[in-house]
Amino acid sequence: MSKLNINPPRDRETKGVVDGPHIILECSACGVPLVDCWITKPNFDIETKIQAECPYCGDHSFEETINGGFHLGITDHTILIDQIIDENNKVFIETAKGAKPWPNKQ
Ligand SMILES: [Zn+2]
Repeated sequence: MSKLNINPPRDRETKGVVDGPHIILECSACGVPLVDCWITKPNFDIETKIQAECPYCGDHSFEETINGGFHLGITDHTILIDQIIDENNKVFIETAKGAKPWPNKQ
């Protein structure tokens, strides 16, 4: 057995993390994709309610319930500014206009 038989650190960093589904929060009024919610720990026993504000029309997304651990990402049209967690463990995400304008010009 080689003395150099070392486990690559990647094994530990990625333990329990999977490339799960993406849930895109869209504005309920103008339809712009606001937040990319990427589920990476579907077996993590936590439920989070999440909602995002729209930087284009001032409305917001519908509330989504996310099961498991997740990462939040930007979209082509928004960036993430801040997140506020209320007493009911609901996350409200503040966004700003991103790289591409909305509505999408074809
Ligand atoms: Zn909107």
